[in-house]
Formats: sequence, structure tokens, C-alpha cells
Amino acid sequence: MTHFTLTQSYAALPERFYAPASLTPVSSPSLIKLNTPLAQTLGLDPVWLASAEGINMLAGHTMPEGVTPIALAYAGHQFGHFVPQLGDGRAMLLGDVTDASGHVREIQLKGAGRTAFSRRGDGRAALGPVLREYVMSEAMAALGVPTTRALAAVRTGERVYRETPLPGAVLARVAASHIRVGTFQFFAAREDHAGLRLLADYAIARHYPQAAQSAMPYLVFLESVIIAQAQLVAKWMNLGFIHGVMNTDNMAISGETLDYGPCAFMEHYDPSTVFSFIDERGRYAYANQPSMALWDLTRLAEALLPLLAEEETVAIELAQKALNQFEAQFQTAYLAGMRAKIGLTQPLAEDGALVQKLLTVMHKNRLDFTQTFRTLSQTEVMQPTPELAEHTLAVGAQLPASHRVLSALAEWLPAWRHRLAQEGAVTPAARAAAMQAVNPLYIPRNHLVEDMISKAIRQEDDSAFETLLAVTTNPYQEQTGRAQYARPAQPHEVVEHTFC
Ligand code: AMP
Ligand code: MG
Ligand code: MG
Repeated sequence: MTHFTLTQSYAALPERFYAPASLTPVSSPSLIKLNTPLAQTLGLDPVWLASAEGINMLAGHTMPEGVTPIALAYAGHQFGHFVPQLGDGRAMLLGDVTDASGHVREIQLKGAGRTAFSRRGDGRAALGPVLREYVMSEAMAALGVPTTRALAAVRTGERVYRETPLPGAVLARVAASHIRVGTFQFFAAREDHAGLRLLADYAIARHYPQAAQSAMPYLVFLESVIIAQAQLVAKWMNLGFIHGVMNTDNMAISGETLDYGPCAFMEHYDPSTVFSFIDERGRYAYANQPSMALWDLTRLAEALLPLLAEEETVAIELAQKALNQFEAQFQTAYLAGMRAKIGLTQPLAEDGALVQKLLTVMHKNRLDFTQTFRTLSQTEVMQPTPELAEHTLAVGAQLPASHRVLSALAEWLPAWRHRLAQEGAVTPAARAAAMQAVNPLYIPRNHLVEDMISKAIRQEDDSAFETLLAVTTNPYQEQTGRAQYARPAQPHEVVEHTFC
């Protein structure tokens, strides 16, 4: 009795879609964390998952009968350069489960050993990236962003060798699917049009079934992915999230955030912010994310051309028209998110300019992105109190952080309050509540994540991980005794670079 039922729909696709993955035994797998609520939503038995047999599976050490993991084939543009074959080099797909609301989700193990696509890599993951992905993805889910989820993290008991030996770990990841832009590129690069069509049909049935009803299912599919990704990136921008490595192999067709590598939340607002150590030229800087998403979607459209129309010129025209929708889709979603962040419910034409002005002031004053919006979400801040700014300027840094934010925003606040007055009869308390529901108090700040990781590595003590996870998965609600999780890094705590 395994208490574990998986179906394997991807394995039913032709063999060239994947490679069977063999198991790599590990010395002493142990559970770091099981996401019990998620397991329950997926209809999985948390007691079994936490049992020796369950942990062995989560570590990729042994599999229950009938579960044959596979590594998926895909290609991708990495920092603009096309690699015709990447594939799951350190991940294996176990199969599908159906969640409580009837959605099919798949479970993948990341870091469970070498596969046919590992090239020179060891197929393993170090503890740090596993804990980072766990916290980041669960925080994103709590922030309402479409994302892959973390089902469990286990230590393998093995060492992995990076610059130094590090504890090894495996992340069990849940996704709507792991089909990427790069999966389509894999077949397109081989001119395997039959494979391309099978993949598109699979992706349509799974993610965009309404496209199948259309006279042009592949065009509707492309449009659906464009809309999903425009809305996703708008959410990232609304939160100051920087993905860090938006290569085409990391952009999911489902519209979920995929592959938490060197990602981070911006602290002081600067559109050119980059954290990833390998992103030397700032290709994936905060402000470039919408245009990079469109660049990736253009690669998807190119891959889909053979399915769009028989005549290439016709196909290109259709693809171009679909891609042209991105900008408006993104702008609409982004502006709706920003309006909500500053407490506006009724759209007016000048709102974009008001938001831009705020961002300019934040940039000039190096204001923390998250803290600024949270500060605006306080009832008192909405009342015109002209003496507050002067008083704050006089006393300077002695005052609480929120006063410093407000004094820096003094030149913008009157225009905002004027705009709020046009909103009609909303009480400040109701507006504050609505704003606090979209402006998080707690995000997984870089220095907190790094501190948590170094504690987990040095002390084999996972309480810092547990606390950071608990705080950031309840991001909107003020938690007593957690003030240090809400503030930006102090100068000596700043983490300039993140690594995959
Ligand atoms: P990523 O930067 O995580 O998107 O990974 C890019 C490619 O490198 C994917 O094909 C990964 O499967 C592969 N890869 C990353 N790390 C490893 C590793 N430790 N061993 C084998 N393959 C890896
Ligand atoms: Mg990847
Ligand atoms: Mg990665």
C-alpha cells in the first residue's frame, strides 16, 4: 500500500519527448519540510509522505511500484543564445495528480541525480537553492502570483560539490505542467512538426482547453500564453519581483512562475536592479522583464509557425498580430495592479502618470519598494497633514521608517490625496484595508533568505527556515515580534548578488 496514486500522461507521449530517469540512491534521506496543506489539496496522504517510504520517494531514492520517473526534453535560448538540447538535467517528473478543484498538477523532483540530459552536471541540488526555492515559491503563492509550488524538501545526506562541499537536498515541486517555451523550440529546431503538434495538443488540453473549440486552436493557444505571461509579469512588476533568468527554458506555458534560481525582491526602487551574478549585462533587470517576456513569446510564436497556417507569410502575420497584444495586456494588468496598490478603484486617464511620478520620487530617494506601498496603506497617511512632512524633515533619521518614507514622498502626497478625493465615498479605514490586502508587509528579502540558508548549512538547524516561511506565507497580516522581517537590509546586511 503506497497511499500514492500517480498517472503519467506525459510518459504516454512519444519517446522522443523525454528520457526515462534512473534512480540515484542516497545515503540517508531525511525530511526538512512537508507542505501538509498542499499535500492535502493534492489528495496526497501527508502521513505516508512523511514516512520512511514517502521520504525515500521524495529523495528520489526509491519509487513506489508503478512510478517510473522521466526527464523531459527541451531546448532554450539562454541569455539570447539558442541551445538545441537542454532538458531536465537535475529534475525528474513523477507524474500527475488531480487537486481538490479538479486541476491536474504534476510532481517533479529537483536535484535527485543525473539524467540523460545532465551533460557535465551532477544532477544534484545543494541545500541553499532548495530552501530558497521553497520559501520564494510559497511566498509568491501567498502573494497571489501564479507559481509552481513546493511540496517537500529533503536532505539527501550526500555532499554536493560546488565551490565548496555543501549538503545535498531535493525539492519536490508541483506545477500545472513543466512545459516551457523551450519545449516547443526543441521540436521546432528539429523540424519535427508532428511532435510540435502533439505537444501543442497536449498543452491545449491541459492548460487552455477553450482553444480546442476554436477554428484556429494553435493561434488561440499562442494568444492565451501571451495573455497569461503578460499578466504574470505584471504581477512580478507590481511586487518588485525579479526573476533573474528569464531564458526561454524557464518560461512556463501555463503562465506560472517557474525556476526560482537567482530571483529576488527589489528593495530600494531602481528600474535597473539586477541581482543575478551571471546576468552581467542586466538583460533580465527589473524594468526589462516585460520586454524579455515578449522576446521569449516571440520565440514561442516562431516555433509555432508551422501550426499557424500553411503559408509562412500568413503564419507570420497571425503570429505578429498575436504578439502585438502583449503590450496592451501587460499595461492593463500592470496599471490595474498599481492602482490597487495606491488605493484607487475607479480608473482615470491620469493614473498612469501619477504612478510614474511616485516611482520617480521613490527612485530619487532610494525608497524601499515594499515598505513604501505598505506605508501608504495606513489610514493616517491618507489624511492631509501638511505639518507631518516638515516635522519629519527636521528630526530626520530618528523617526520610524514610515515617517522617513513619508517625508521623501512629501512632493507626491498632495497629488495622491487629491486623486483619492475623486474616488467618492470610501472611508479611510476601508481604503486602508483594501490597500493592505495588496501591499505585503513581509516578503522574502534577500538578506533574510541568505541568513536562513547559512544557518541551515552551518547549524543543520532549520528553525530559521521555518520562521521565514511562516512569516512570508502570511504576507499581509502584521505579526507580533516580527518587525525585523518587514524592514529592508541595513547597509552591512545588503546582499548584492544571487546565484543559481
Ligand atoms: P537553469 O539555469 O536552472 O534553468 O538550468 C539550465 C539547464 O542546466 C537545465 O537543462 C538544467 O537541467 C541544467 N542543470 C542545471 N544544474 C544542473 C546540475 N547540477 N546537473 C545537471 N544539469 C543541470
Ligand atoms: Mg531551468
Ligand atoms: Mg534553475
